[in-house]
Amino acid sequence: MKRYVYNFNWHEAERVHADVVIVGCGVAGLYTALNLDPSTKCVMLNKAGSEQCNSIYAQGGIATVIEPNLQDNPKRHFDDTLIAGAGLCNKESVKVLVDEAWVNIEKLISDNVPFDMQDGDLLLTREGGHSRNRILHCGGDATGLHLTNRLYELILQRDNIRIYNNMLLTDIITDENGAVAGALALDEDCRPFYFASSKVVIASGGIGRVFKSSTNAICATGDGIAAAKRAGAELKDMEFIQFHPTALIYPNDEGRFFLISEALRGEGAILRNRRSEPFMQGVHPLADLAPRDIVARAIVTEMKKSNFSNVYLDITSRPRDFLKERFPTIFRECLSRGIDISKDWIPVIPVQHYFMGGIKTNLDAKTNITGLYACGESACTGVHGANRLASNSLLECLVFGRRCALHIKKSGFCSPHLNETALISESSGVNIDFEQYSNEIRSLMTQKCGITRNKPDLMEAYSRISEILGWLDTIELKNPKGIEAYNQALVALSILGAAIHREKSVGAHYRSDENVWRNTNA
Ligand SMILES: Cc1cc2nc3c(=O)[nH]c(=O)nc-3n(C[C@H](O)[C@H](O)[C@H](O)COP(=O)(O)OP(=O)(O)OC[C@H]3O[C@@H](n4cnc5c(N)ncnc54)[C@H](O)[C@@H]3O)c2cc1C
Repeated sequence: MKRYVYNFNWHEAERVHADVVIVGCGVAGLYTALNLDPSTKCVMLNKAGSEQCNSIYAQGGIATVIEPNLQDNPKRHFDDTLIAGAGLCNKESVKVLVDEAWVNIEKLISDNVPFDMQDGDLLLTREGGHSRNRILHCGGDATGLHLTNRLYELILQRDNIRIYNNMLLTDIITDENGAVAGALALDEDCRPFYFASSKVVIASGGIGRVFKSSTNAICATGDGIAAAKRAGAELKDMEFIQFHPTALIYPNDEGRFFLISEALRGEGAILRNRRSEPFMQGVHPLADLAPRDIVARAIVTEMKKSNFSNVYLDITSRPRDFLKERFPTIFRECLSRGIDISKDWIPVIPVQHYFMGGIKTNLDAKTNITGLYACGESACTGVHGANRLASNSLLECLVFGRRCALHIKKSGFCSPHLNETALISESSGVNIDFEQYSNEIRSLMTQKCGITRNKPDLMEAYSRISEILGWLDTIELKNPKGIEAYNQALVALSILGAAIHREKSVGAHYRSDENVWRNTNA
């Protein structure tokens, strides 16, 4: 593995000094920045403008208990989270998540995030795995868009925060003692930048685009996770990938699959097979609202049994006006494909959706590297265990983003010490079609490391992707596509290695070559 994926020409690099560098402008990055002291000089980077992130696609909402009572309380939310996580959640982190949920939501409400209300009360819905209605939403099914836009507006009002759009993080730079000394990045014209800082926060999102079929934004290639690994950060729970049971079968031009939110099933939608039969009743006590891994596997079983390429989601029991108002985004998207969801069943398949693993962090979002923090989907706080409970991820971005900012505030700042001459390198690099490697990695991961896995498949993918990485290690990568392919290979190998190592099925990691194993200590 290369220590630095891109060899910088330090003579050419533009230097920017900051107290904190935040990589990523999704909910995790934006909320962390907003919780910093207004006197902290903060620089934020994103890969492809403010509209490229998973946060804006979040539909269903954010889980929280509004007013603890006998019906619902943080303890119930805690229990539901542990059950979905199949016994592998970090209980301390989950406790923080559920206990601090409302403080953060209250802050969002006071910051005018437009949560849906009725007669002055917040509207709550239910999603898979939740035993109570506790999901807040905005714009019906456009929670992420409204939340991200509002946070972005607030950021623009801050003089201490500067956003660099289209600035690709290549690496986290460390000093002789292994402490963070800043971030290296390339702008859209491939000009090198050195963001000098003793504090770097990785909030660069998930890894969906290491797979061929995913609901994730095109930027989700695991760059921040790969950069952290190269810098020596520990990764955790890499084998746990969530496949969402219900994505519309048609990908868009960028290969992204449109999500049909679980909230539809929360409002009464049922899954049907090719023969029109509802099939979730006998599978799990929560039927269509069972945890995602169980629903996704049940769908794959139905597809195999009926030798058909998809199943259907049926919400025709609900009136058209209700559907239009409650799910405007889904209604519109389906209609654009000729599907009127008040009359037609929606053809759906399971695809990659969320990453439970990532950069290992503690309760303050700190990694094992001095000065390096991570939050949001690129971090692994342990709250999701082997499977994420629906609508807990935006919440995780908020709770641990705020904790990250508070820790940074508390720990103070210093100038990074870097011996730049030790890093000087001048190289020409090669320009080849790196996209072919990215495509091959994506196909292998989807075919060999999907909803059900077995050792021979995992080994085959591991071996081929190791070859690709080995080859990429021998050349100088001088363009963003090459850097992305390198990161994809590195992340894919970490996932495969962990998946090979975990021989028993648990949560979202299902080994068809082993008996199903459930940790009963949940
Ligand atoms: C379709 C969909 C629906 C979802 N629905 C819900 C839901 O209802 N409720 C819920 O809780 N969760 C939901 N999720 C999950 C949730 O949206 C994400 O986990 C969460 O938004 C992640 O936020 P983030 O800030 O960590 O990352 P993101 O929002 O993905 O932001 C990542 C940022 O990092 C930047 N970046 C990436 N690589 C680089 C690089 N090399 N250099 C510089 N910048 C970089 C990107 O440009 C982007 O700005 C959904 C996800 C999807 C895809």
